[in-house]
Amino acid sequence: MAAVLPPLPAALSPSRLQDFHACPRRYQYAAVERRPQPATFATVKGRVVHHVLEHLVREEPAARTSSAAAALVPAAEDAVVDEGVRADLGFDDDLRARLRREVDEAVAGYLAMEDPRDVRAEGVELRLSAAVDGAPILGILDRLDRDADGRLTIVDYKTGSVPSRTWDRYTFANTELYAALCQAALGELPTTIRLLYVSQRAEATRPVTEVVIRARAAAASHAWHAIGEYHERGDFPARPSASTCRFCAYRADCLAQGIAVPPPPTARATTL
Ligand code: SF4
Repeated sequence: MAAVLPPLPAALSPSRLQDFHACPRRYQYAAVERRPQPATFATVKGRVVHHVLEHLVREEPAARTSSAAAALVPAAEDAVVDEGVRADLGFDDDLRARLRREVDEAVAGYLAMEDPRDVRAEGVELRLSAAVDGAPILGILDRLDRDADGRLTIVDYKTGSVPSRTWDRYTFANTELYAALCQAALGELPTTIRLLYVSQRAEATRPVTEVVIRARAAAASHAWHAIGEYHERGDFPARPSASTCRFCAYRADCLAQGIAVPPPPTARATTL
């Protein structure tokens, strides 16, 4: 018999939507049951860099200097690396040194890509919520800029690698839903999306088009409807695959339930 699940969250975020599309069971564990996901080095680094860049752009334009950015790093580490993170990562001096090195590289990468003193941000860590095609969407935008001609641009910081073209259709998925959210919440559709891969000093830019935004909104609406049906049923199907399970925090949970989760690449390589 299917379990009675906790209530659904009131809203759907683009990252949870991505979870749902990758594997509905992952959405169940993360968003409905709120099972904890241990911190990883990559997520901790990302949070520290986002913290630094958020607070840098909150400064008055003239104060957004490289030395101001460097001065923000220790406080950002203190804010992010708490007891839970230390326990999850086995945080020691070597890891602390690696984190500082990689955060410094990412911040320097950002500063090489744009001069923050020129940034005209209309919102930083901007929290928006609205119904998008009937689906309650909640998003927090890294930055929403307005240029001299009055056009809006969504800016999203990335601390991972630039994705290969194989994943092209996913690369802008979250930010295109942010654009739909801006339209619904602010009554204005951004014209451009910029993804800043700060660790690699690479930028991916795409214009926003109505047709794509309508498709993203429809996909979110369809997913929200399916989420409601699975929730009523008390069971979100697992869709294990090598690519989705590879970095999933819930491998052990699924294995315990007899779900055929593919082994991680290293383990599989040793059995070939
Ligand atoms: S381990 Fe695989 S099947 Fe299980 S929740 Fe994660 S992605 Fe889905």
